[in-house]
Amino acid sequence: MDVYNNYVAGYQNEKALFISEMEEYAKDNSIPIMDSFGIETFLGLLSIQQPSSILEIGSAIGYSAIRMAEYFPEASITTIERNDKRYELALNYIAKSGYSDRIEVFKADALEFDTNLLSNKMYDSLFIDAAKGQYKRFFEKYSPKVKIGGAIYCDNMFMHGMVLEEDLDLPRRKRTMIRNLKEFTGWIMAHPDYNASLLPVGDGILIAIKKEI
Ligand code: SAM
Repeated sequence: MDVYNNYVAGYQNEKALFISEMEEYAKDNSIPIMDSFGIETFLGLLSIQQPSSILEIGSAIGYSAIRMAEYFPEASITTIERNDKRYELALNYIAKSGYSDRIEVFKADALEFDTNLLSNKMYDSLFIDAAKGQYKRFFEKYSPKVKIGGAIYCDNMFMHGMVLEEDLDLPRRKRTMIRNLKEFTGWIMAHPDYNASLLPVGDGILIAIKKEI
């Protein structure tokens, strides 16, 4: 597939310098931001939906939040990050991007965060991109904040191939994470209140559309 990745890359618009700087910083410091094809796919999916409000769990250094703000000039984005250093970096990069008025960052563990601190509005989209073993808990906590007809996206559903390696000789913590993620996948794919699809693109993206019930 590399050959197609290179082909696609040839058509991608030039990125703002600070976006390339963020990608480089993330690479040099092993910060797991969405890779360039993952983010292209994700933005393409979001553009079908045209969200005006997006809630993200797992900001890291603010890369995906900034890319979403850039792609959807009318949208407001709320994002939650628990790591102090990444939170500070996210604030700096967001200030640099000029989107501080549309991106709000909370420094908190999303599983302990008081959702009353979010505005009362319901979101068009929820993007879950934090601890992979906790996806079901994030989903249960934040999906009530998504409108009927809204979409929930989850990245890294393949955990870089590890979902196929659960039985291999991995540390117990990893095996638990894989088991939780697979359990979440089965649960959401069969959930009567959502139309869910698991897309084999990038590292696996799940989309769940909230049905009217
Ligand atoms: N969405 C980002 C991007 O593509 O630019 C990447 C996010 S990175 C994959 C996951 C982030 O989630 C990490 O920075 C991690 O510190 C954060 N995280 C993990 N568990 C969390 C939790 N319970 N609450 C808040 N943040 C969490």
